Amino acid sequence: MNIAANPVVEADQTVYLKDYEKPSFLVDSINLDIQVHSDYTQVNTTLVMQRQTSGNLVLLGRDLELKSILLNGTILSESEYTLDAEQLVISNAPDHVILETKVIIHPESNTQLEGLYQAGSDLFVTQNEPEGFRKITFYPDRPDVLSVFTTRVEADKKFPVLLANGNLMEAGEVGEGRHYTIWEDPTHKPSYLFACVIGDLAVLKDSYVTSEGRNVALEIYAVEKDIPKCHIAMEALKHSMRWDEEHYGRPYDLDNYMIVATSQFNMGAMENKGLNIFNTSCVLADEEYTTDAAIMRVQSVIAHEYFHNWTGNRITCRDWFQLCLKEGLTVFRDQSFSEDLQSAAVQRIDDVAVLKAHQFPEDSGPLSHPPRPDHFVEINNFYTATVYEKGAEINRMMATLLGKEKFRKGTDEYFQRHDGQAVTVEDWVSALTVGSGIDLSVFLIWYNQPGTPKLEANGEYDAAKQTYCLSFKQSLKAHPKYPNLKAVPIPIALALFNAETGEQYTLQSEALFKNTVKDGMYLFDQNEATIEFSGITAKPVVSLLRNFSAPVNLDFNYSDEELAFLIQFETNGFNQWQATQTLLERILLQGHDANIYVQAIKNTLPDLVEKDPLLASRLFDVPTEGYLGSRIDSDYSPIVIQEQRDALIYTLARALGSFCQETYLSLDPDLQKEFSQAMGVRALKNIMLNMMARQGDIAAFELAFEQYKNTGNMSERLGALKVLVWNDAPQASDALADFYNRFKDEALSLDQWFMVQAAHPKATVESIHYLTSHPDYDLTTPNRIRAVSGGLNTHPVNTWSFGVQHFIDLAKYLDEKNPIVGSRLLQVLSRWYTLAEPQRTQVKTALEALKSQVKSKNVVETLNSMLSV
Ligand code: ZN
Repeated sequence: MNIAANPVVEADQTVYLKDYEKPSFLVDSINLDIQVHSDYTQVNTTLVMQRQTSGNLVLLGRDLELKSILLNGTILSESEYTLDAEQLVISNAPDHVILETKVIIHPESNTQLEGLYQAGSDLFVTQNEPEGFRKITFYPDRPDVLSVFTTRVEADKKFPVLLANGNLMEAGEVGEGRHYTIWEDPTHKPSYLFACVIGDLAVLKDSYVTSEGRNVALEIYAVEKDIPKCHIAMEALKHSMRWDEEHYGRPYDLDNYMIVATSQFNMGAMENKGLNIFNTSCVLADEEYTTDAAIMRVQSVIAHEYFHNWTGNRITCRDWFQLCLKEGLTVFRDQSFSEDLQSAAVQRIDDVAVLKAHQFPEDSGPLSHPPRPDHFVEINNFYTATVYEKGAEINRMMATLLGKEKFRKGTDEYFQRHDGQAVTVEDWVSALTVGSGIDLSVFLIWYNQPGTPKLEANGEYDAAKQTYCLSFKQSLKAHPKYPNLKAVPIPIALALFNAETGEQYTLQSEALFKNTVKDGMYLFDQNEATIEFSGITAKPVVSLLRNFSAPVNLDFNYSDEELAFLIQFETNGFNQWQATQTLLERILLQGHDANIYVQAIKNTLPDLVEKDPLLASRLFDVPTEGYLGSRIDSDYSPIVIQEQRDALIYTLARALGSFCQETYLSLDPDLQKEFSQAMGVRALKNIMLNMMARQGDIAAFELAFEQYKNTGNMSERLGALKVLVWNDAPQASDALADFYNRFKDEALSLDQWFMVQAAHPKATVESIHYLTSHPDYDLTTPNRIRAVSGGLNTHPVNTWSFGVQHFIDLAKYLDEKNPIVGSRLLQVLSRWYTLAEPQRTQVKTALEALKSQVKSKNVVETLNSMLSV
């Protein structure tokens, strides 16, 4: 019998988009029988296949122990097929094939959390996107092979829950304390959407009636003690179902929808057809145990995975190069959903902050790639901010340009044309074009080339003619692998304000796709262009890229006074915030006067706190050390940035003076009716508390400790804990000890305990070692690893000193144990080349030394790209 060896990265394993070929066989149906035992699992599979093109019958399989193989009822001898570490190939197969295989797999020792794996003592789950199914059975494991799945799951009765996709057809006992279920999924689906779950879990049940009158049973599975924390997710699920009907005309199509929570998961969640599997961090939501930010994230991930049912599942990707087709569109949809849950401006601020903090740096460094890459070695390395976040921005640009009605016509056309198919980015843009009647094909450029465009703008006012001229120029940094960079279409949402009255000018023009402005929107699609506005009676203040209408780096020579003006008079909340960010960056990096910011804030805040407390709190966002560092391309000194940033916060804290305590004491989240308002009030209070601590006010620590002790709300408790720990308050160790005792059995809360300590600005090798050698630290649980590593990386000054060894050691260890997570964590070091010497060379040497010590495609590809600058 054959045991497939571990894959080793060979010379060139690059896959190219241009080499795409249709599958030689399609699968009419697949019958799976999965028998889980404590030390092995047997998988018996029957595939009914039809030839589509000439060519070999290729079945992908990895780490499978092949026990037997029958083709049309006859045993295949070893000479009739070839088998290597990645595939089983049968040449000369007939046109109609019934293939029966039996394999043994080992979920109990699968630490990679890919395929079928054991997640704790009471649970087995699957993660098959993108290429995990081949670790369960031999199969043409590619997204353009869609089939109908029937699944039998058998296990010991100590696992009462046996789930798979679709409808439950049968359940029964098989003796020896074992039982089984049989599930049939009526929808054609690719193998990456297959899921099964075997475990001892409790369930929260509800139901939903679709716009078509279908009654859908809703179930969320989790360990018993976590069931009370599943209600917010359940409400979010029902809300998402209604939202997709109302906004996209998309009702749900099965009789059940199940969600299973596991604490061991490589990412956030997975949209398996009718059987989502979620990281607990994206399902469990409860004011006592999780923060407001986590609660918002739960709602958005629930929506994200639900929305995939149409954008991803019913219409899927032809190949993995098209990943951003489903992810970019689904992220755009979940962002729009979340804009309805809270202050829309703040949702946009948060989404753009993520884009700028992760995608912009990624796109300016060695890991830069187009939203739709044209080659890869390991597709798992391409679940990136560029594919997800920039992908979402491209859809947003097209949606903004079309407006609600036309965009809906475009998406209707897409669903009508391609339901049940595996398609490409071109298919999507073409459906939008035909449905809306507006040619969007020029947006394909965004999908196909890397880099963040720089948008330079210049304004000139002519008082005599009462005209205002705006000229634009776009450019992209040269990219070694993509030599023919083109100008992209950039929708620029803009407004002009009368600098004397604060009023907004009404802008007029004829057509959308001309060199003109309509509804405050100008489509700039050349290298350079100038537009002119007339009837401008006084010198205007221009607000550009309102709501961040395009993912570009804007360069406009604002004066500090104009920025202060925008903080007070801009009616678009996003641009109001953007003005604070630009102004703060100047104060921080160029030593401009902080008072102008403080004055603008003081003028703006009282009204805003009433209207939108969450937005009010965001106006105090000081760009993070990480973000500031990512804007520096050479001779970067993390310590200098940290000192400048600290100095700024100190200056602001002093300049705000008694305002901080007054604001803190005047706010009460319990008086707010809506969650999102209360969340805003809590955020603002925590900021004020921190500012008071920065003023050196000992009383602030007392207040913080009171807040810590007297609340039942995690955002308040954690906010206070951070103030105490990060400012080395005398109460810090008591609070930490209390937090540990209170939450030691609550994994997600305990993650925060690890994170807070790892994120101490003065963390050291020793303090990190204390955490990583703590009995509750666990290298088999990605959430715990991320809590410490993510915390550490809050301060680049730590990342780039002792953190380098921390991340390299992790990558080395995870290279074998969990390469998906190993590769991710290594990427933290991708901007090593921007460091000032001698750090630059030190990190480079350490990375080069890692090369000979890693084997997985994931880590090797990442490391090679990182060193290719
Ligand atoms: Zn997704």
